[in-house]
Amino acid sequence: MKVELLLKNGQLVLPSEGLVRADLAVEGGKIVALLASSDGVQAREVIDVSGKYVFPGVIDPHTHVGLGNGLPEYATESHAAAIGGTTCYFSFLMNSAPYADTFHEHRQAAEKLSYVDFGLHMTAMSDVHLQELPKYVEELGVTTHKFFMSFKGDEGAYLGVTGSDDGFMFDLFSAVARFDKGLVPIHTENIEVVWRLRKRLQESGRNDLRAWNDSRPPFTESEAIYRAVYYANLTRCPIYVVHLSSAEGLREVCQDKERFPEATVYVETCPHYLTHHYEMPVGNLAKVNPPVRSPQDVEAIWQALLNGAIDVVGSDHVSRRREKKQGTIWQASAGMPGMPLVLPVLLSEGYHKRGLPLARIAELTSANPARIFGCAPRKGSLAVGADADIAVVDLELAKTVSAEMLGTYADWSLYEGWPLRGWPVLTLVRGQVVMRDGKVVGKQGHAQYVAR
Ligand SMILES: [Zn+2]
Repeated sequence: MKVELLLKNGQLVLPSEGLVRADLAVEGGKIVALLASSDGVQAREVIDVSGKYVFPGVIDPHTHVGLGNGLPEYATESHAAAIGGTTCYFSFLMNSAPYADTFHEHRQAAEKLSYVDFGLHMTAMSDVHLQELPKYVEELGVTTHKFFMSFKGDEGAYLGVTGSDDGFMFDLFSAVARFDKGLVPIHTENIEVVWRLRKRLQESGRNDLRAWNDSRPPFTESEAIYRAVYYANLTRCPIYVVHLSSAEGLREVCQDKERFPEATVYVETCPHYLTHHYEMPVGNLAKVNPPVRSPQDVEAIWQALLNGAIDVVGSDHVSRRREKKQGTIWQASAGMPGMPLVLPVLLSEGYHKRGLPLARIAELTSANPARIFGCAPRKGSLAVGADADIAVVDLELAKTVSAEMLGTYADWSLYEGWPLRGWPVLTLVRGQVVMRDGKVVGKQGHAQYVAR
């Protein structure tokens, strides 16, 4: 047997299965064999990964590339992705005009600039998006159409969106349900309640991270989850609850899945809900929608990763400069750059501190997003025939996070100064090494668009 690359002596981390000692052979960008012994195999390149763990590359299904610095972010943010072992990310397009032009602009920019593979989602915000949905699915390969339950009335008008209400959601679900692999990622917050709470808190002079939580309390998340699952069941449209933040939201979605067993409902959380709460002295940096919650909520979300109630950890990556985080809690911009740290956070805070099994981490970060977002079996596993998208991890490597080492457009990290243990030391995209020992060595232009 002759192959182009052999990863020798590693422990393979097979999603939901466990660890297997095997050598992994790559040819033509694909995994072609898992071998107990590769004696007799000729390889053009051999990489010895003794003592390391070979994960399927992280697939981050939730990023907002371009919100801080436009299209050039496909370079900076994918560079950061490679450092974190992320081999494919999906970014949300978001505007109320027809999507074809924006789609091509983003696809071309990412093909030229990105270091790792990528896909695109759309955000359904106007009737024209409903009318053109078949074209987006069939011609552009976009099967996932996000809905913001919070872009209603005045909040929508402020963003230039009108008519984005429960009626629109019902029509969107009905339309998406017709397509194989159709899925609605859904932002679940009841904004009508938030407006009234926010106004009172602002008038009372509150200006702290906890006030942000108090203005969008967990029940605004859980009530919206109920409504979303109710309509998902009615229309038979699969939904994906993005960024679950609270124990109350978690209880709600678990109850709703029991009550509506025929509804297809997936649940995502993000690194910041696993590491941050409103009692921490981080102020505006941790401002995000939905808000970071209490210490008890943090532990409840970890439990859900351990027991299977949550399917995916995505980053909700937004890369804006630190200056945008200034001002009062009400003025600061929301969101944080999390894409490069999904895997290091799960390894350090999950595997090392809470016993989260490695195979479960591979499931949450790779196998599940690949399956849910319609790119399995090409992505999301170490099986023969899959793309050789791989993150080789040194579980004992300890590094202190700095914004510089990640290199996002954002000049800060929520984890600045955090010592994390467990880092990818090698990232491969379709058999090409794109990151080695924390340095990106891959080439732009290698990235491929992942059509669904
Ligand atoms: Zn988001």
